[in-house]
Amino acid sequence: MSKLVVSQKIKLAVKNGHGVVKIKVGNTTIGGDQLAVMAGPCSVENREQVLEAARIVKGAGGHILRGGAFKPRTLPYSFQGLGEEGLKILDAARSETGLPIITEVMAPEDVELVESYADILQIGARNMQNFALLKRVGKASKPVMLKRGMSATIEEWLGCAEYILNEGNHDVILCERGIRTYETITRNTLDVSAVPVIKQLSDLPVVVDPSHGTGIRSLVAPMAKAGIAAGADGLMIEMHPHPEKALSDGDQSLHPHEFEALMREMAPIAGAVGKRL
Ligand code: PEP
Ligand code: MN
Repeated sequence: MSKLVVSQKIKLAVKNGHGVVKIKVGNTTIGGDQLAVMAGPCSVENREQVLEAARIVKGAGGHILRGGAFKPRTLPYSFQGLGEEGLKILDAARSETGLPIITEVMAPEDVELVESYADILQIGARNMQNFALLKRVGKASKPVMLKRGMSATIEEWLGCAEYILNEGNHDVILCERGIRTYETITRNTLDVSAVPVIKQLSDLPVVVDPSHGTGIRSLVAPMAKAGIAAGADGLMIEMHPHPEKALSDGDQSLHPHEFEALMREMAPIAGAVGKRL
């Protein structure tokens, strides 16, 4: 049987006999037989928007609320996020719904603040190789979800997970969010094959983000399903109460009714691969 090969210098992010990593956040375990659904708006915009989104996520059976308070935007003129005010809004949504929170941290000096609010720290694709940030979240007391860089090989991605693990934080989740290819119809090319590759190489949980992976609302549901069928441990999905009003990523954000339908449609696919929602 042919075997997948990565650098033998990677020790902690590859299978090493310690078994599948299971990360418990609230009532949800990421890794193992549960399919963890993280959903919510791209950006935290205001209290009403986030509370409305949180109620929809909770009502539809989602497990974790997402929302960015620190936003990595392509241009400095775009909405940059609400910062700590956004974290406070996420905290209020958690208090009301009980949903744990995942949110991005972009700089080492912000980790202390963000980890005081977040249940999971997100490292965005653009920061995958920000080694100072990786080392800092490696010392954090919260799990870290490491998104794949948009031009990163799987080996480079695992090398970045190694940075976090090497600092002593064992709770690392990998997130495939699409890579740059010559294709321009979609925002990125979602590398679904990364999921079974990671499963064969590593014991870390892997999550698929079909929202950034495609950039197009109508492609989110089919690629979410493909991710589950490929063996993902979870999904990260952008959903906005009013996508047409979104301050970021409205075109790829599901409408609430689309998210609710997707949650129903995902259940049998999860079941077919031995996972429950
Ligand atoms: C996000 O999840 O909001 C985000 C910015 O994603 P990525 O880092 O994958 O582009
Ligand atoms: Mn986004």
